[in-house]
Amino acid sequence: MVRKITPASVDFSKWYTDVVQAAELADYSPVKGCMVIRPYGYALWENVQQGLDRRFKATGHQNAYFPLFIPESFIKKEAEHVEGFSPELAVVTHGGGKQLDEPLIVRPTSETIINAMFAKWVQSYRDLPLLINQWCNVVRWEMRTRLFLRTTEFLWQEGHTAHATAEEAIEETLRMLEVYRDFAENDAAIPVIPGRKSESEKFAGAVDSYAIEAMMGNKWALQAGTSHFLGQNFAKAFGTQYLNQDNELEYVWQTSWGVSTRMVGAIVMVHGDDQGLRLPPNIAPTQVVVVPIWKSDAERAEVMAAVDKAMAKLAEQFRCHLDDRPELSPGFKFNEWEMRGIPLRIELGPRDVKKGQAVLVRRDLPRKEAKSSVALDGLSSEVSSLLDAVQANLFAQARCFLEDNTYQPMTYEELCEAVADGFALAYWCGSADCEARIKEQTRATIRCIPLKQDGKPGHCVCCDGEAKEKAVFARAY
Ligand SMILES: [Zn+2]
Repeated sequence: MVRKITPASVDFSKWYTDVVQAAELADYSPVKGCMVIRPYGYALWENVQQGLDRRFKATGHQNAYFPLFIPESFIKKEAEHVEGFSPELAVVTHGGGKQLDEPLIVRPTSETIINAMFAKWVQSYRDLPLLINQWCNVVRWEMRTRLFLRTTEFLWQEGHTAHATAEEAIEETLRMLEVYRDFAENDAAIPVIPGRKSESEKFAGAVDSYAIEAMMGNKWALQAGTSHFLGQNFAKAFGTQYLNQDNELEYVWQTSWGVSTRMVGAIVMVHGDDQGLRLPPNIAPTQVVVVPIWKSDAERAEVMAAVDKAMAKLAEQFRCHLDDRPELSPGFKFNEWEMRGIPLRIELGPRDVKKGQAVLVRRDLPRKEAKSSVALDGLSSEVSSLLDAVQANLFAQARCFLEDNTYQPMTYEELCEAVADGFALAYWCGSADCEARIKEQTRATIRCIPLKQDGKPGHCVCCDGEAKEKAVFARAY
């Protein structure tokens, strides 16, 4: 039997865990706080990686790899950084049976060790900009485990760049935020709000942090990627300097930016429904599943001949899977592949073969509207256009959901109502007091101050003071 999934409307958190486990994306591990990413979840992550990696390289970045261990003294060099990360650090005190002279930190992020190397590699303005990305695991100690969303160890990429001027570094920070937006919206079909973080929500050690924020199926926010302008904070701590064209020593200006396996959690929570996953074709490990239908051996031979022919053609263009397991009924298979979120299913039975057609079923539409019959001759082009349609429709559905559940409260009461069941886009005066009061009373935080503003000033939703910008307030993961 296919595992029962708790309806999202009954218990969203349970629904999420059920889907992740039933679809075999990930599982709990014997190590507290750590998860196992199963092959299907890892294949999905690999497609996320490929979509991002392609974009990083197209914008001039190169991949490299730095050590998992960071000397404790490195972490302590940047004051805000150490303060922000201290509670989450895992520390190695022994190695090779002996106590270490200096404890090693298991990297929570790599600004420090990378700066130690940048300080060595950067000599003159000719060495800049330095554009590096690393795919790796990081460790930040967690008390609670939520598969993909909150685990002590997780996978991610971290970009680290060094530039000659502040302007170039700020431009890079925003360029990578745009790369993340482009990936999230065009590959993962997740509409996002790109914006700046408030002082209290920014990265420990950054001058300015930016993020893309997405709305999950329960109307909570999830930060799906971050990009930081580090100024010269780490450069000064590590002496990362270069000789400018006038032969004077200057500190470099830096950025760092990251997307993690949380993105997989976001894909589940944005698109999934009570049947299970719904995956956007651009990142689905399997885009098309073919299910042959037969009763007798004679039917089987006839159907399989047509299926083999169709598969050979489809496999040239799409990520396909043929489910010819004889011991399972077609109905069981349909449910299983729906649960696993395959964007398109092709059913082929004896009657279809006689008519020279196949039945195509989309995962993104209600069952009644999802079916169409297509001539086998034109199967590839029809599959191609249906996959495009599924991709576009999943994005459109998610965007409607975001728009329908984003409110523009003008009063404090309206703000409280809004964040209880959606996002609130509201004027904020910029004071940490107002931000803290809202957080304390509603549990909603400032997710970001959207880059896109209408430019009209207004009054703070909390204190009624003058406000230049609107911020997005929401409950968040
Ligand atoms: Zn205020």
